[in-house]
Amino acid sequence: MSTRSLRGCLLAGALLLSAGLAAAGESPQLVIRDVTLLDGTGSAPRPGVSVWISGERVVAVQPGGAPVPAGASVVEGAGRFLIPGLIDTHVHVQGGRVARPGVPGTSVDRALALRTLQAYLYCGVTSVFDSGNNADFIFGLRAEERAGTLLAPRIFATGANITAPQGYGDNAFSIKVSSLEADRARLEAHFDRQPDLQKILYDRLGTFGTPAAGVLSQDNLKGVIALAHARGIPTTVHTTTEWDSLATLEAGIDSFAHPVRAAVTPAFAQALAERRIPVSTTLAVFGHIARVADEPGFLDAPLFRATVDPAELAFLRNEERQRYIASGMSAQFKVMNPHLARTVKRLHEAGVPLALGTDRTLGASVHMELELLAQAGIPLPDLLRIATLNGARYLRREGELGSIEPGKLADMVLLKADPSRDVAAYQAIEAVFKGGRRIDLGALGIPVNEKRRSR
Ligand SMILES: [Zn+2]
Repeated sequence: MSTRSLRGCLLAGALLLSAGLAAAGESPQLVIRDVTLLDGTGSAPRPGVSVWISGERVVAVQPGGAPVPAGASVVEGAGRFLIPGLIDTHVHVQGGRVARPGVPGTSVDRALALRTLQAYLYCGVTSVFDSGNNADFIFGLRAEERAGTLLAPRIFATGANITAPQGYGDNAFSIKVSSLEADRARLEAHFDRQPDLQKILYDRLGTFGTPAAGVLSQDNLKGVIALAHARGIPTTVHTTTEWDSLATLEAGIDSFAHPVRAAVTPAFAQALAERRIPVSTTLAVFGHIARVADEPGFLDAPLFRATVDPAELAFLRNEERQRYIASGMSAQFKVMNPHLARTVKRLHEAGVPLALGTDRTLGASVHMELELLAQAGIPLPDLLRIATLNGARYLRREGELGSIEPGKLADMVLLKADPSRDVAAYQAIEAVFKGGRRIDLGALGIPVNEKRRSR
């Protein structure tokens, strides 16, 4: 029997078992026994506990020796570390706006999207926030994921970004607002699609050598935020400077999609801390662009090779690298990155809730982000909350996600090493659970599994 048909049989057996439990009026029970729990809240690690899951939720955390309910599946956790599923608060799922040679505009590549999403699961990421994309594409994937018909992390999305005409990020998918009255119908139609968090672009400086760009007027900015808030939709913003960030804070923004790209003043850090405004960290995007110029070999790390198609890795190492060098971005970010790292550390020390975000499209970049945050001087015990519960706060989902506590969705990662001692432990992934169900990592549609199958 091939491993594939064996897996099929095992899956059929598991389905029968869960169908039987459901028929008996019970949810499937799962116990992670005798594990060291790092629950994501910032509490000290708790060795020797058992975590009970019923259906998709955590129901209890018990001393390790407590008896296991009859019929429950058991995962032995001795010598293992259980953490909440990681949350990336800034991604752009690939496949929504693919340029094809000779074809005007962009098109959709669903296979690429599925590989991207499943790579996040493989890397221990159970929720992502898509911070700007082709709205039809990403809202479609979100609907499938929520209906339970798509194997993917939980997808939260803004759909379309909002910017000024000719403003930063003005593209075919963005919503351009020149006057609130003239553009109200388009905004309302977009908000009808229920973005989880509305991203606004507000960057008068221009980025990547692009010229200075127009931004929303203060009245339009306030108006857009108020319209979103009236629908219960929180807002986040791309800004690059402290003065632009202050303007958006004044207008009522709820979070930041990046840290500012310079040293922050203590007054600014304090303003964010007092209002508990989350900031997505996004060191990986700048780290990747600076690093790939000098040492593209980091793309050979096991998680990149396991999850990224060899042709795409070659593209990152060659064409994209050349583009970053030629545009001056690599050189620019090499100078900027130490300042950015100090800014992030200063925000953390001031009490600002940082939330892990990469602004990349690759699950493996989440582990690069963790490394960069550790290198920036974020203490390892604080890093876990940044990668989990603070991400849930950024998404306003902290009542459901981000920590392993009774009542919360059982999104969890079982590690073979202690992430409070070594940041590399986040890569020592033994098992990933989403909504109480163990993900079959060997069945994900990613290169490492395709290689194994073709052998
Ligand atoms: Zn982005």
